[in-house]
Formats: sequence, C-alpha cells, structure tokens
Amino acid sequence: MRRPILRYGAPVLQQKAAPIAALTPELDTLIDDMRDTMHGAAGVGLAAPQVGESLRVCLVDLSAGRRPDQLLVLINPDVLERDGLQLKEEGCLSVPGIEATVPRPQSLTVRAMDRDGDVRDIRAEGLLARAIQHEVDHLNGILFLDRLRPVYRWALTRRIARLRRAGKW
Ligand SMILES: [Zn+2]
Repeated sequence: MRRPILRYGAPVLQQKAAPIAALTPELDTLIDDMRDTMHGAAGVGLAAPQVGESLRVCLVDLSAGRRPDQLLVLINPDVLERDGLQLKEEGCLSVPGIEATVPRPQSLTVRAMDRDGDVRDIRAEGLLARAIQHEVDHLNGILFLDRLRPVYRWALTRRIARLRRAGKW
C-alpha cells in the first residue's frame, strides 16, 4: 500500500530515527508499503521517516522498480567506511522539484540487516554509494539540503518558501 510522502518541513524528517529492535509483521508491512511508495513515485530510495515512521529502515533500488533483485532493504544501517568524493546532482522525494550538487563519498561500506534478519556488509560505489548515504542521512534527520554550503542552502529554502506561498509546492 502506498503511503503519503512527507515533505521538507515535517518535523519527523529532522529527527534521529530509533533502531529497529525486532523483525515483526508490522515492520514487514512497513517495508512493503515503503517499496510500493518508492516505486509509485519512481524513486530510487526511501527512508521510513519520509512516510512518518521514525525508525532506522531504508530502501534503495537503483532500477526504480524495474528489477526486483535490485531492491536493497537496510535495517539499522551503519556506514563503516567512506572513501573518496563525488559531486553529482541529487534530489529527494521529500524535496520535490529541487536538485542540487551534493558532495558524497565515492565509495562506502555499510553494515545492515536485511528483512530475513541476516546482517551483511555491503560495499558500494558511485551512484549506489550516493543513494545509500542519502538514505542513511534521512535516518539521522539530515536532508541533502543540509549537506550544501549555507549560502546555497539558503537560496534553495527561499525558493521552496516562494513555491509554497504560490501554492505550487
Ligand atoms: Zn531523500
């Protein structure tokens, strides 16, 4: 079932999410709903706070739903290692219509549990590393706007405020 995606300004997007203590049927439902919501919005990643659940679970799917084997479910993810730097344009389902060049590690290793309860280390590079770092940031209450230089962030938040006032956001 698709859930509404919360937008920039929703308090839950700025909170540190709580660890998942146990794999439960409720968590399974949440993950299914997050997958449907992400694919419905043609997104490549979604974190639980974006659907209003302050829990440490996020999804990444670079195929945007075209290849089921590409779906990564990361429960209690922990980035162990980051290397290098990449600068690419990036957006967020919670900040629609806004893109910005965000500095991210070129590669990383993330340790996370999957939905079967297995803990794995995943080595990621390029776009996958970027997507994972973006989603893990959500679990720490950080949006991509927060990774920008202040003057640039200020310009974008002004633009969002203008769009909001015009009823276009
Ligand atoms: Zn996002």
